[in-house]
Amino acid sequence: MQDILPWQQSLWHALQGYIASQRIPQAILLTGSAGLGKRRLAELYTGVLLCLDPLPTHRACGACAACKLLAADTHPDYLLLEPEEPGKTIGIDKIRQLIVRLALKPQFEAFRLVIIQPADMLNKASANAFLKCLEEPTERTCFILISEQAAKLPATIRSRCQKIHCPAPDEKLALPWLEQQGVGEDAGLLLRIAHGSPLLARQYAERQMIQIRQGCFQAWRQVAAGKTGPLQLADEWQKQQNVEPAVLLDWQIGWIMDIIKLLQQTDAAEIANPDFKNPLQVLAGQLALKPLYLYYDTLLRHKALLATQLNRQLLFERLLVDWARLNTGLHPDFSGF
Ligand SMILES: [Zn+2]
Repeated sequence: MQDILPWQQSLWHALQGYIASQRIPQAILLTGSAGLGKRRLAELYTGVLLCLDPLPTHRACGACAACKLLAADTHPDYLLLEPEEPGKTIGIDKIRQLIVRLALKPQFEAFRLVIIQPADMLNKASANAFLKCLEEPTERTCFILISEQAAKLPATIRSRCQKIHCPAPDEKLALPWLEQQGVGEDAGLLLRIAHGSPLLARQYAERQMIQIRQGCFQAWRQVAAGKTGPLQLADEWQKQQNVEPAVLLDWQIGWIMDIIKLLQQTDAAEIANPDFKNPLQVLAGQLALKPLYLYYDTLLRHKALLATQLNRQLLFERLLVDWARLNTGLHPDFSGF
């Protein structure tokens, strides 16, 4: 059985409180960044509510018929709703199927659990249809909505959920856990790149993300130095399989923010990419603050565009052409963005 992650003890305590007092919320909205263990927490809670003979400590027994079915992923009272493919919405067909299922009684005597992840990928029609499930509760049914961007969910859904937020843990808890997981000396840097999410940091370690980031940064500097053409790098990044475009964009946002910080003063210890401090300092010495701010805004706007399936090749081309222009010392007009 999975252990409670060290930074989720208090959240688990809150969930156990519902079980102990037998006041199970009809719907829970679990929010927080990727890689904090939201799904794992939801599954632990699910396990206890489905279990036919839970332990006095409010943990699943792991041995009853329900626990075995859940472990085999065949429990009839457990439903997982997710998009067909990552990045796609959860269509109304899935909600219609859910409504048909909910019209039947749960097959076991315990609860029925429905996990929706990412809940913010319900499209307008499916969110409206799902709202009916919350407005007209069915017996012994509990929904767990998991979301990294809960603000995208309609307020009508959010207001009907018990909200539980998973914050990023303190390094004091995250670093020893990463060490336990076999993530060695780079744990601190990986955690930083993963914005403080330990599970994401562990995944980044497996994917050699430090080396990939290093390579991308070098290439980005080559564009600044005029040694690599921006279109050539855009082409390479478009074909890059090892890192998601959103992550690549996030990295550039972080590098530019650090250059701005270094230009403005300051306490260099506060930059987000201390391992790149020297080259970032060099770039800061060559660039002017005002166009950097404009470019930073451009990057943020493109981040929003990325979510709307914009042509990624074109996106990187525009951004890298602007990055090259910024480094020529000309005041760029950023391709009209
Ligand atoms: Zn059990």
